[in-house]
Amino acid sequence: MNSVGDYIMARFEAWCRLANDPSSYFVAAFLLIVLGCDVIRKGWRRSLSRRAIESVAATLAIFHINIVLVPGVWLLSDQVKQAYDLLGIPSIPGSVWTDLPTWLLSFLGILAADFANYWNHRLMHMKWLWPVHAIHHSDPVVNGLTTYRVHALENLVMLVSYTLLLSWIGLPRDAIGYGALIVLFHNIYVHIDVDWGHGPLRLLVASPRFHRWHHADVPAAYGKNLANVFPFFDWIFGTYRVPGPCNVPLGATGVPRNNVLKLTLWPLIEWLRLAARLLPTFQRQVVDDRRDVPAE
Ligand SMILES: [Zn+2]
Ligand SMILES: [Zn+2]
Repeated sequence: MNSVGDYIMARFEAWCRLANDPSSYFVAAFLLIVLGCDVIRKGWRRSLSRRAIESVAATLAIFHINIVLVPGVWLLSDQVKQAYDLLGIPSIPGSVWTDLPTWLLSFLGILAADFANYWNHRLMHMKWLWPVHAIHHSDPVVNGLTTYRVHALENLVMLVSYTLLLSWIGLPRDAIGYGALIVLFHNIYVHIDVDWGHGPLRLLVASPRFHRWHHADVPAAYGKNLANVFPFFDWIFGTYRVPGPCNVPLGATGVPRNNVLKLTLWPLIEWLRLAARLLPTFQRQVVDDRRDVPAE
């Protein structure tokens, strides 16, 4: 890649390919059905309120910004993969998986990716990574499209961890591809504005109620329900919390709601603010260290 112009042209071609890809039609059709059902259920006035339209417009803008930005940050993940290969960490040989049926391999791929995702997500809710993940939580009107409200840098963290984990496990690429498609449809499903809790299966497959509690803007819900697909990871690691129907406000206090430019720059803004807060402590530490040095 020689210049910014080449990069932009390559991104435009990728966007055209995405727009013509049959799997994009399936996802778009699914999203339209989901949004259509929402309109029928709640009526035009509530589903197409100004708040909801602003939320959808911001999410669509973030999705298109990511088409441009994400491959740029993916280049960084290649460096991580090379470093990982250089370390020579032993991995499971691909031959272990050859006799297993595709459905089982896809399931194992989803299970492994969700385990990685649980810990990624837990990190994302900690102080220094929260400014990156806060964009996903900024949506005040959580709906199927919220799936796509993700910062480009979050894509990088996910990609690095999946690349490392899945290359360690050595699962075949086909199985991962099918698994990724199932996870995408499920991810859209858990963001739908319905109160389905999955009854006795609630710990096996994440429900919209489970994930709405993850988006709840009340302190008791912060950092809870972190798994994407399998809530039993939360149950095992002590972060499961579904007290009943989720009727509390959704969103993230202190984070811009639908200002796309601010949301894109949010990690930078917050990291500068956090660093500025650290500076006086650091300076005090240096002064104290100097005082501790005995005079010769
Ligand atoms: Zn989260
Ligand atoms: Zn979400």
